[in-house]
Amino acid sequence: MPASLENWIDGAACPPSTAEYSTGINPSNGKPTIDIAASGDADVHQAVTAARRSADAWRHHPSAERGRILHRIADSIRENADHLADLEVEDTGKPRATALGEVENSAAYFEFYAGLVNLPVGDVLDVEPNQHIFTKREPYGVIGVITPWNVPLNQAARAVAPALATGNVVVLKPAETSGQTTIALAELASRAGLPDGVFNVVLGAGSTVGTAIVAHPDVRKVAFTGSVRTGQAVGRIAAERIIPLTLELGGKSANIVFDDADLDLAAKEAVRAFAANAGQVCSAGTRLLVQRSIHDFFVARVAEIAGNLREGQDVGPMITRPQFDQVQEYFDLARQEGAHALLGGSVSERPELSGGLYVQPTIYAGVSRDMRIAREEIFGPVLVTLPFDDEKDAVSMANDSDFGLVAGVFTKDIGRALRISDAIEAGQVFVNSWSTGAVQTPFGGHKKSGYGREKGIEAMHHYTHLKSVVVVY
Ligand code: ADP
Repeated sequence: MPASLENWIDGAACPPSTAEYSTGINPSNGKPTIDIAASGDADVHQAVTAARRSADAWRHHPSAERGRILHRIADSIRENADHLADLEVEDTGKPRATALGEVENSAAYFEFYAGLVNLPVGDVLDVEPNQHIFTKREPYGVIGVITPWNVPLNQAARAVAPALATGNVVVLKPAETSGQTTIALAELASRAGLPDGVFNVVLGAGSTVGTAIVAHPDVRKVAFTGSVRTGQAVGRIAAERIIPLTLELGGKSANIVFDDADLDLAAKEAVRAFAANAGQVCSAGTRLLVQRSIHDFFVARVAEIAGNLREGQDVGPMITRPQFDQVQEYFDLARQEGAHALLGGSVSERPELSGGLYVQPTIYAGVSRDMRIAREEIFGPVLVTLPFDDEKDAVSMANDSDFGLVAGVFTKDIGRALRISDAIEAGQVFVNSWSTGAVQTPFGGHKKSGYGREKGIEAMHHYTHLKSVVVVY
Protein backbone atom coordinates (compact mmCIF):
# COMPACT_ATOMS: atom_id res chain seq x y z
CA MET A 1 0.00 0.00 0.00
CA PRO A 2 1.41 3.46 -0.82
CA ALA A 3 2.16 5.71 2.12
CA SER A 4 -0.14 8.38 0.82
CA LEU A 5 -2.87 8.90 -1.72
CA GLU A 6 -1.97 11.65 -4.19
CA ASN A 7 -3.94 13.52 -6.83
CA TRP A 8 -3.88 12.17 -10.37
CA ILE A 9 -3.25 15.03 -12.79
CA ASP A 10 -2.10 14.92 -16.39
CA GLY A 11 -1.41 11.19 -16.23
CA ALA A 12 0.72 11.22 -13.08
CA ALA A 13 0.49 11.12 -9.29
CA CYS A 14 0.77 14.68 -7.94
CA PRO A 15 1.25 15.64 -4.31
CA PRO A 16 -1.07 18.49 -3.27
CA SER A 17 0.25 22.05 -3.50
CA THR A 18 -0.83 22.53 0.12
CA ALA A 19 1.47 19.69 1.28
CA GLU A 20 -1.44 18.79 3.57
CA TYR A 21 -3.03 15.38 4.11
CA SER A 22 -5.95 13.99 6.06
CA THR A 23 -5.97 10.49 7.52
CA GLY A 24 -8.33 7.94 6.05
CA ILE A 25 -10.16 5.75 8.55
CA ASN A 26 -11.57 2.29 7.94
CA PRO A 27 -15.16 2.64 9.22
CA SER A 28 -15.41 -1.04 10.08
CA ASN A 29 -12.69 -0.89 12.73
CA GLY A 30 -11.65 2.73 13.22
CA LYS A 31 -8.09 2.03 12.09
CA PRO A 32 -6.16 4.56 10.00
CA THR A 33 -5.73 3.53 6.39
CA ILE A 34 -3.81 6.01 4.26
CA ASP A 35 -2.94 9.70 4.22
CA ILE A 36 -5.13 11.46 1.69
CA ALA A 37 -4.11 14.61 -0.18
CA ALA A 38 -6.00 17.66 1.12
CA SER A 39 -5.69 19.76 -2.01
CA GLY A 40 -6.40 23.42 -2.61
CA ASP A 41 -7.44 25.77 -5.41
CA ALA A 42 -4.04 25.55 -7.13
CA ASP A 43 -4.42 21.79 -7.60
CA VAL A 44 -7.85 22.24 -9.14
CA HIS A 45 -6.42 24.87 -11.46
CA GLN A 46 -3.59 22.54 -12.44
CA ALA A 47 -6.04 19.71 -13.15
CA VAL A 48 -8.45 21.87 -15.14
CA THR A 49 -5.53 23.29 -17.14
CA ALA A 50 -4.29 19.77 -17.96
CA ALA A 51 -7.82 18.73 -18.91
CA ARG A 52 -8.33 21.75 -21.10
CA ARG A 53 -5.01 21.18 -22.85
CA SER A 54 -6.03 17.63 -23.74
CA ALA A 55 -9.64 18.44 -24.66
CA ASP A 56 -9.30 19.16 -28.37
CA ALA A 57 -7.17 16.13 -29.12
CA TRP A 58 -9.54 13.84 -27.19
CA ARG A 59 -12.61 15.30 -28.84
CA HIS A 60 -11.10 14.69 -32.28
CA HIS A 61 -9.58 11.32 -31.42
CA PRO A 62 -10.95 8.73 -33.86
CA SER A 63 -14.13 7.55 -32.19
CA ALA A 64 -13.37 3.86 -32.72
CA GLU A 65 -10.09 4.33 -30.90
CA ARG A 66 -11.87 6.17 -28.07
CA GLY A 67 -14.14 3.15 -27.82
CA ARG A 68 -11.20 0.74 -27.80
CA ILE A 69 -9.60 2.64 -24.92
CA LEU A 70 -12.84 2.53 -22.93
CA HIS A 71 -13.05 -1.21 -23.61
CA ARG A 72 -9.53 -1.65 -22.33
CA ILE A 73 -10.44 0.30 -19.17
CA ALA A 74 -13.36 -2.10 -18.63
CA ASP A 75 -11.05 -5.09 -19.07
CA SER A 76 -8.52 -3.61 -16.73
CA ILE A 77 -11.17 -3.00 -14.03
CA ARG A 78 -12.15 -6.67 -14.26
CA GLU A 79 -8.53 -7.86 -14.18
CA ASN A 80 -7.97 -5.78 -11.04
CA ALA A 81 -11.32 -6.57 -9.42
CA ASP A 82 -9.83 -8.07 -6.27
CA HIS A 83 -7.53 -5.14 -5.66
CA LEU A 84 -10.28 -2.59 -6.33
CA ALA A 85 -12.65 -4.44 -4.00
CA ASP A 86 -9.96 -4.47 -1.29
CA LEU A 87 -9.58 -0.70 -1.56
CA GLU A 88 -13.33 -0.13 -1.55
CA VAL A 89 -13.78 -2.36 1.50
CA GLU A 90 -11.02 -0.47 3.29
CA ASP A 91 -12.57 2.94 2.53
CA THR A 92 -16.21 2.04 3.16
CA GLY A 93 -16.27 -1.13 5.29
CA LYS A 94 -18.94 -2.61 3.01
CA PRO A 95 -19.20 -6.39 2.60
CA ARG A 96 -16.68 -7.70 0.08
CA ALA A 97 -19.36 -9.31 -2.10
CA THR A 98 -21.07 -5.92 -2.39
CA ALA A 99 -17.79 -4.26 -3.34
CA LEU A 100 -17.08 -6.91 -5.97
CA GLY A 101 -20.53 -6.39 -7.47
CA GLU A 102 -19.88 -2.66 -7.69
CA VAL A 103 -16.52 -3.24 -9.37
CA GLU A 104 -18.20 -5.39 -12.01
CA ASN A 105 -20.83 -2.71 -12.50
CA SER A 106 -18.10 -0.11 -12.95
CA ALA A 107 -16.54 -2.21 -15.71
CA ALA A 108 -19.98 -2.53 -17.29
CA TYR A 109 -20.29 1.27 -17.56
CA PHE A 110 -17.09 1.51 -19.58
CA GLU A 111 -18.11 -1.44 -21.73
CA PHE A 112 -21.56 -0.05 -22.43
CA TYR A 113 -20.39 3.43 -23.40
CA ALA A 114 -17.40 2.04 -25.34
CA GLY A 115 -19.91 0.63 -27.80
CA LEU A 116 -21.81 3.90 -28.09
CA VAL A 117 -19.07 6.37 -28.98
CA ASN A 118 -20.76 7.17 -32.31
CA LEU A 119 -24.25 7.30 -30.96
CA PRO A 120 -24.89 10.98 -30.28
CA VAL A 121 -26.13 11.87 -33.75
CA GLY A 122 -28.02 14.84 -35.16
CA ASP A 123 -30.89 15.49 -37.56
CA VAL A 124 -31.14 16.95 -41.02
CA LEU A 125 -33.93 19.50 -41.37
CA ASP A 126 -35.50 20.11 -44.75
CA VAL A 127 -36.93 23.63 -44.36
CA GLU A 128 -36.34 25.69 -47.54
CA PRO A 129 -34.78 25.08 -50.93
CA ASN A 130 -31.15 26.17 -51.06
CA GLN A 131 -30.75 25.49 -47.36
CA HIS A 132 -29.12 22.60 -45.64
CA ILE A 133 -29.71 22.53 -41.91
CA PHE A 134 -28.29 19.93 -39.60
CA THR A 135 -27.81 19.44 -35.90
CA LYS A 136 -24.91 17.78 -34.18
CA ARG A 137 -24.10 16.92 -30.58
CA GLU A 138 -20.81 18.20 -29.22
CA PRO A 139 -18.93 17.62 -25.98
CA TYR A 140 -18.85 20.42 -23.42
CA GLY A 141 -15.09 20.20 -22.89
CA VAL A 142 -14.06 20.04 -19.23
CA ILE A 143 -16.66 18.30 -17.05
CA GLY A 144 -16.43 18.62 -13.26
CA VAL A 145 -17.61 15.51 -11.43
CA ILE A 146 -18.21 15.43 -7.67
CA THR A 147 -18.99 12.08 -6.09
CA PRO A 148 -20.07 10.92 -2.61
CA TRP A 149 -18.64 8.24 -0.32
CA ASN A 150 -21.33 5.57 -0.52
CA VAL A 151 -20.49 3.79 -3.79
CA PRO A 152 -17.25 5.52 -4.81
CA LEU A 153 -15.91 3.54 -7.77
CA ASN A 154 -19.33 2.99 -9.23
CA GLN A 155 -20.26 6.68 -9.03
CA ALA A 156 -16.99 7.63 -10.68
CA ALA A 157 -17.46 5.11 -13.51
CA ARG A 158 -21.09 6.14 -13.98
CA ALA A 159 -20.07 9.71 -14.81
CA VAL A 160 -16.62 9.29 -16.33
CA ALA A 161 -17.49 6.59 -18.88
CA PRO A 162 -20.26 8.54 -20.71
CA ALA A 163 -18.35 11.82 -20.36
CA LEU A 164 -15.26 10.35 -22.03
CA ALA A 165 -17.28 8.41 -24.62
CA THR A 166 -18.84 11.65 -25.81
CA GLY A 167 -15.44 13.33 -26.13
CA ASN A 168 -15.30 15.32 -22.90
CA VAL A 169 -12.42 15.50 -20.45
CA VAL A 170 -12.93 15.19 -16.70
CA VAL A 171 -11.79 16.62 -13.39
CA LEU A 172 -13.26 14.51 -10.60
CA LYS A 173 -13.35 15.03 -6.87
CA PRO A 174 -14.29 11.98 -4.82
CA ALA A 175 -15.55 12.33 -1.24
CA GLU A 176 -12.68 13.24 1.07
CA THR A 177 -12.79 9.92 2.92
CA SER A 178 -13.03 7.45 0.05
CA GLY A 179 -10.85 8.26 -2.94
CA GLN A 180 -8.70 5.14 -3.22
CA THR A 181 -10.68 3.38 -5.94
CA THR A 182 -11.13 6.58 -7.95
CA ILE A 183 -7.38 7.16 -7.99
CA ALA A 184 -6.87 3.49 -8.89
CA LEU A 185 -9.36 3.90 -11.74
CA ALA A 186 -7.46 6.90 -13.10
CA GLU A 187 -4.18 4.97 -12.97
CA LEU A 188 -5.74 1.96 -14.72
CA ALA A 189 -7.23 4.25 -17.36
CA SER A 190 -3.81 5.78 -18.07
CA ARG A 191 -2.28 2.33 -18.37
CA ALA A 192 -5.10 1.35 -20.72
CA GLY A 193 -4.01 4.12 -23.07
CA LEU A 194 -6.15 7.08 -22.03
CA PRO A 195 -4.15 10.16 -23.01
CA ASP A 196 -2.69 12.28 -20.20
CA GLY A 197 -4.98 15.01 -18.92
CA VAL A 198 -8.22 13.42 -20.13
CA PHE A 199 -9.19 12.13 -16.68
CA ASN A 200 -7.86 13.92 -13.60
CA VAL A 201 -8.69 13.38 -9.94
CA VAL A 202 -8.25 16.01 -7.23
CA LEU A 203 -8.61 14.87 -3.62
CA GLY A 204 -9.74 17.09 -0.79
CA ALA A 205 -12.58 18.82 1.00
CA GLY A 206 -15.85 19.74 -0.67
CA SER A 207 -15.76 23.31 0.59
CA THR A 208 -12.38 23.93 -1.08
CA VAL A 209 -11.76 21.48 -3.93
CA GLY A 210 -15.45 20.92 -4.76
CA THR A 211 -16.23 24.62 -4.78
CA ALA A 212 -13.13 25.39 -6.85
CA ILE A 213 -14.14 22.86 -9.50
CA VAL A 214 -17.66 24.25 -9.87
CA ALA A 215 -16.37 27.84 -9.89
CA HIS A 216 -13.51 27.30 -12.33
CA PRO A 217 -14.16 29.29 -15.53
CA ASP A 218 -12.96 26.45 -17.77
CA VAL A 219 -15.32 23.85 -16.27
CA ARG A 220 -18.33 23.81 -18.60
CA LYS A 221 -20.66 21.34 -16.92
CA VAL A 222 -20.87 19.68 -13.51
CA ALA A 223 -22.27 16.30 -12.52
CA PHE A 224 -22.90 16.21 -8.78
CA THR A 225 -24.09 13.35 -6.61
CA GLY A 226 -24.65 14.01 -2.90
CA SER A 227 -26.89 15.70 -0.40
CA VAL A 228 -29.60 18.25 -1.16
CA ARG A 229 -27.84 20.90 0.91
CA THR A 230 -24.58 20.55 -1.00
CA GLY A 231 -26.47 20.25 -4.29
CA GLN A 232 -28.05 23.61 -3.54
CA ALA A 233 -24.63 25.15 -2.83
CA VAL A 234 -23.26 23.74 -6.09
CA GLY A 235 -26.39 24.93 -7.89
CA ARG A 236 -25.92 28.50 -6.66
CA ILE A 237 -22.44 28.70 -8.15
CA ALA A 238 -23.59 27.01 -11.36
CA ALA A 239 -26.46 29.52 -11.61
CA GLU A 240 -24.03 32.45 -11.34
CA ARG A 241 -21.82 30.90 -14.00
CA ILE A 242 -24.75 29.73 -16.13
CA ILE A 243 -23.39 26.23 -16.60
CA PRO A 244 -25.52 23.10 -16.78
CA LEU A 245 -25.70 20.69 -13.89
CA THR A 246 -26.77 17.14 -13.32
CA LEU A 247 -27.89 16.80 -9.71
CA GLU A 248 -28.44 13.37 -8.25
CA LEU A 249 -29.54 14.02 -4.68
CA GLY A 250 -31.40 12.28 -1.91
CA GLY A 251 -34.58 10.31 -1.52
CA LYS A 252 -37.15 8.97 0.91
CA SER A 253 -38.50 6.48 -1.51
CA ALA A 254 -41.83 4.72 -1.09
CA ASN A 255 -42.24 1.00 -1.51
CA ILE A 256 -45.93 0.15 -1.87
CA VAL A 257 -47.18 -3.36 -1.08
CA PHE A 258 -50.76 -4.42 -1.90
CA ASP A 259 -52.51 -7.37 -0.30
CA ASP A 260 -52.55 -9.32 -3.59
CA ALA A 261 -48.75 -9.26 -3.97
CA ASP A 262 -46.40 -12.23 -3.71
CA LEU A 263 -45.76 -11.39 -0.09
CA ASP A 264 -42.69 -13.60 0.37
CA LEU A 265 -40.99 -11.89 -2.54
CA ALA A 266 -42.20 -8.46 -1.45
CA ALA A 267 -40.87 -8.97 2.08
CA LYS A 268 -37.43 -10.02 0.86
CA GLU A 269 -37.28 -7.12 -1.55
CA ALA A 270 -38.47 -4.68 1.12
CA VAL A 271 -35.49 -5.69 3.26
CA ARG A 272 -33.05 -5.39 0.38
CA ALA A 273 -34.57 -2.00 -0.44
CA PHE A 274 -33.77 -0.43 2.90
CA ALA A 275 -30.74 -2.41 4.08
CA ALA A 276 -28.55 -2.71 0.97
CA ASN A 277 -25.29 -0.82 1.49
CA ALA A 278 -26.56 -0.28 5.06
CA GLY A 279 -29.18 2.09 3.69
CA GLN A 280 -26.51 4.42 2.34
CA VAL A 281 -27.89 4.72 -1.17
CA CYS A 282 -29.99 7.55 -2.49
CA SER A 283 -32.39 5.04 -4.04
CA ALA A 284 -33.05 3.15 -0.78
CA GLY A 285 -36.67 2.18 -0.18
CA THR A 286 -37.09 3.59 3.30
CA ARG A 287 -40.84 4.24 3.42
CA LEU A 288 -42.76 0.99 3.31
CA LEU A 289 -46.43 1.63 2.54
CA VAL A 290 -48.49 -1.50 3.21
CA GLN A 291 -52.18 -2.10 2.61
CA ARG A 292 -53.87 -1.89 6.00
CA SER A 293 -55.39 -5.39 5.89
CA ILE A 294 -51.91 -6.98 5.81
CA HIS A 295 -49.82 -4.24 7.41
CA ASP A 296 -49.04 -5.83 10.78
CA PHE A 297 -48.56 -9.33 9.42
CA PHE A 298 -46.39 -8.19 6.52
CA VAL A 299 -44.25 -5.83 8.58
CA ALA A 300 -43.63 -8.63 11.11
CA ARG A 301 -42.37 -10.78 8.23
CA VAL A 302 -40.08 -7.97 7.03
CA ALA A 303 -38.77 -7.55 10.59
CA GLU A 304 -38.09 -11.29 10.84
CA ILE A 305 -36.01 -11.26 7.66
CA ALA A 306 -34.21 -8.05 8.57
CA GLY A 307 -33.56 -9.44 12.05
CA ASN A 308 -31.50 -12.21 10.49
CA LEU A 309 -29.11 -9.77 8.82
CA ARG A 310 -25.74 -9.98 10.49
CA GLU A 311 -24.11 -6.66 11.23
CA GLY A 312 -20.53 -6.77 10.06
CA GLN A 313 -21.25 -9.48 7.49
CA ASP A 314 -24.47 -8.69 5.65
CA VAL A 315 -24.68 -5.08 6.74
CA GLY A 316 -21.64 -2.82 6.68
CA PRO A 317 -20.96 0.15 8.92
CA MET A 318 -21.95 3.75 8.47
CA ILE A 319 -19.19 4.94 6.18
CA THR A 320 -18.35 8.23 7.89
CA ARG A 321 -18.39 9.39 11.49
CA PRO A 322 -20.81 12.30 10.77
CA GLN A 323 -23.17 9.78 9.14
CA PHE A 324 -22.93 7.48 12.18
CA ASP A 325 -23.76 10.47 14.39
CA GLN A 326 -26.65 11.50 12.14
CA VAL A 327 -28.29 8.07 12.29
CA GLN A 328 -28.05 8.10 16.08
CA GLU A 329 -29.69 11.52 16.13
CA TYR A 330 -32.58 10.01 14.17
CA PHE A 331 -32.81 7.15 16.70
CA ASP A 332 -33.17 9.82 19.41
CA LEU A 333 -35.67 11.73 17.32
CA ALA A 334 -37.73 8.58 16.77
CA ARG A 335 -37.95 8.13 20.54
CA GLN A 336 -39.03 11.77 20.97
CA GLU A 337 -41.64 11.39 18.24
CA GLY A 338 -43.00 8.31 20.02
CA ALA A 339 -42.21 5.85 17.21
CA HIS A 340 -42.26 2.14 18.00
CA ALA A 341 -39.02 0.31 17.12
CA LEU A 342 -40.12 -3.12 15.98
CA LEU A 343 -36.48 -3.90 15.26
CA GLY A 344 -33.20 -2.30 16.24
CA GLY A 345 -33.10 1.36 17.11
CA SER A 346 -29.55 1.73 18.38
CA VAL A 347 -25.91 1.26 17.54
CA SER A 348 -24.72 -2.30 17.22
CA GLU A 349 -24.45 -4.20 20.48
CA ARG A 350 -21.99 -6.75 19.14
CA PRO A 351 -18.79 -6.31 21.17
CA GLU A 352 -16.56 -7.44 18.30
CA LEU A 353 -17.86 -4.52 16.21
CA SER A 354 -17.36 -1.86 18.86
CA GLY A 355 -14.45 -0.27 16.97
CA GLY A 356 -16.62 0.29 13.89
CA LEU A 357 -19.48 2.60 12.99
CA TYR A 358 -22.19 -0.07 13.05
CA VAL A 359 -25.88 0.49 13.70
CA GLN A 360 -28.66 -2.07 13.90
CA PRO A 361 -31.04 -2.57 11.00
CA THR A 362 -34.08 -0.73 12.31
CA ILE A 363 -37.81 -0.72 11.62
CA TYR A 364 -40.27 1.81 13.00
CA ALA A 365 -43.69 0.30 12.41
CA GLY A 366 -46.94 2.14 11.85
CA VAL A 367 -45.52 5.66 12.08
CA SER A 368 -47.53 8.69 11.08
CA ARG A 369 -46.69 10.49 7.88
CA ASP A 370 -45.95 13.85 9.51
CA MET A 371 -43.18 12.50 11.73
CA ARG A 372 -39.73 13.73 10.68
CA ILE A 373 -38.43 10.14 10.60
CA ALA A 374 -41.10 9.45 7.97
CA ARG A 375 -40.17 12.46 5.85
CA GLU A 376 -36.42 13.05 6.08
CA GLU A 377 -33.63 11.05 4.50
CA ILE A 378 -31.78 9.21 7.27
CA PHE A 379 -29.20 7.45 5.06
CA GLY A 380 -28.87 4.39 7.27
CA PRO A 381 -30.57 0.97 7.48
CA VAL A 382 -33.73 2.49 8.90
CA LEU A 383 -37.22 1.71 7.60
CA VAL A 384 -40.51 3.33 8.52
CA THR A 385 -43.80 1.61 7.73
CA LEU A 386 -47.21 3.18 7.19
CA PRO A 387 -50.57 1.57 6.43
CA PHE A 388 -52.69 2.73 3.48
CA ASP A 389 -56.28 1.94 2.53
CA ASP A 390 -56.53 1.89 -1.25
CA GLU A 391 -54.70 2.75 -4.44
CA LYS A 392 -55.55 6.45 -4.27
CA ASP A 393 -54.38 6.64 -0.67
CA ALA A 394 -51.14 4.83 -1.55
CA VAL A 395 -50.30 7.23 -4.38
CA SER A 396 -51.11 10.28 -2.30
CA MET A 397 -48.89 9.05 0.54
CA ALA A 398 -46.05 8.10 -1.81
CA ASN A 399 -46.12 11.53 -3.45
CA ASP A 400 -46.38 13.36 -0.14
CA SER A 401 -42.62 13.90 -0.06
CA ASP A 402 -40.10 16.57 -0.96
CA PHE A 403 -38.20 13.86 -2.81
CA GLY A 404 -38.97 11.84 -5.93
CA LEU A 405 -36.16 9.49 -6.78
CA VAL A 406 -37.55 5.95 -6.98
CA ALA A 407 -40.61 3.98 -5.89
CA GLY A 408 -41.60 0.34 -5.74
CA VAL A 409 -44.98 -1.31 -6.17
CA PHE A 410 -45.79 -4.92 -5.39
CA THR A 411 -49.07 -6.25 -6.78
CA LYS A 412 -50.23 -9.00 -9.12
CA ASP A 413 -52.63 -6.57 -10.79
CA ILE A 414 -50.69 -5.29 -13.79
CA GLY A 415 -53.24 -2.55 -14.51
CA ARG A 416 -52.78 -1.21 -11.01
CA ALA A 417 -48.99 -1.41 -11.32
CA LEU A 418 -49.14 0.63 -14.52
CA ARG A 419 -51.57 3.21 -13.08
CA ILE A 420 -49.30 3.67 -10.09
CA SER A 421 -46.16 3.90 -12.24
CA ASP A 422 -47.91 6.69 -14.09
CA ALA A 423 -49.07 8.57 -11.00
CA ILE A 424 -45.89 8.36 -8.93
CA GLU A 425 -43.67 11.45 -8.95
CA ALA A 426 -40.30 9.70 -9.23
CA GLY A 427 -37.64 9.14 -11.85
CA GLN A 428 -37.81 5.34 -11.54
CA VAL A 429 -40.58 2.93 -10.58
CA PHE A 430 -39.84 -0.71 -9.80
CA VAL A 431 -42.64 -3.25 -10.19
CA ASN A 432 -42.41 -6.50 -8.20
CA SER A 433 -38.69 -6.02 -7.55
CA TRP A 434 -36.44 -3.42 -5.98
CA SER A 435 -33.90 -2.96 -8.71
CA THR A 436 -32.52 0.17 -10.27
CA GLY A 437 -31.81 -1.89 -13.37
CA ALA A 438 -28.53 -2.16 -15.19
CA VAL A 439 -26.14 0.45 -16.56
CA GLN A 440 -28.51 0.83 -19.52
CA THR A 441 -31.34 2.19 -17.35
CA PRO A 442 -31.53 5.99 -17.11
CA PHE A 443 -31.49 7.22 -13.53
CA GLY A 444 -32.39 10.52 -11.91
CA GLY A 445 -34.90 12.36 -9.81
CA HIS A 446 -37.98 14.49 -9.56
CA LYS A 447 -38.42 17.30 -7.03
CA LYS A 448 -35.57 17.65 -4.50
CA SER A 449 -34.03 14.39 -5.70
CA GLY A 450 -32.46 16.39 -8.51
CA TYR A 451 -32.53 16.76 -12.25
CA GLY A 452 -30.76 15.44 -15.31
CA ARG A 453 -30.21 11.76 -15.91
CA GLU A 454 -27.24 9.49 -15.40
CA LYS A 455 -26.83 6.05 -16.97
CA GLY A 456 -28.15 4.68 -20.23
CA ILE A 457 -28.13 6.41 -23.57
CA GLU A 458 -29.89 9.30 -21.88
CA ALA A 459 -26.68 10.27 -20.03
CA MET A 460 -24.99 10.89 -23.36
CA HIS A 461 -27.45 13.70 -24.03
CA HIS A 462 -26.50 15.26 -20.71
CA TYR A 463 -22.79 15.15 -21.51
CA THR A 464 -23.25 16.82 -24.90
CA HIS A 465 -24.95 19.95 -26.19
CA LEU A 466 -26.65 20.50 -29.48
CA LYS A 467 -25.44 22.73 -32.30
CA SER A 468 -27.56 23.64 -35.32
CA VAL A 469 -25.72 24.44 -38.54
CA VAL A 470 -27.63 26.36 -41.21
CA VAL A 471 -26.05 26.30 -44.66
CA VAL A 472 -27.56 28.50 -47.35
CA TYR A 473 -26.37 27.78 -50.86
P1 ADP B 1 -22.53 14.13 2.75
O1 ADP B 1 -23.08 15.26 3.55
O2 ADP B 1 -23.34 12.92 2.83
O3 ADP B 1 -21.06 13.92 2.94
P2 ADP B 1 -22.19 15.83 0.51
O4 ADP B 1 -23.26 16.22 -0.42
O5 ADP B 1 -21.71 16.88 1.44
O6 ADP B 1 -22.71 14.56 1.24
O7 ADP B 1 -20.93 15.26 -0.28
C1 ADP B 1 -20.96 14.81 -1.60
C2 ADP B 1 -19.73 15.34 -2.31
O8 ADP B 1 -19.82 16.74 -2.35
C3 ADP B 1 -18.42 15.02 -1.60
O9 ADP B 1 -17.42 14.78 -2.57
C4 ADP B 1 -18.14 16.32 -0.87
O10 ADP B 1 -16.76 16.51 -0.58
C5 ADP B 1 -18.62 17.32 -1.87
N1 ADP B 1 -18.92 18.65 -1.32
C6 ADP B 1 -19.21 18.97 -0.03
N2 ADP B 1 -19.43 20.31 0.09
C7 ADP B 1 -19.25 20.84 -1.15
C8 ADP B 1 -19.35 22.16 -1.69
N3 ADP B 1 -19.67 23.20 -0.93
N4 ADP B 1 -19.13 22.33 -3.01
C9 ADP B 1 -18.84 21.27 -3.81
N5 ADP B 1 -18.72 20.01 -3.35
C10 ADP B 1 -18.93 19.78 -2.05
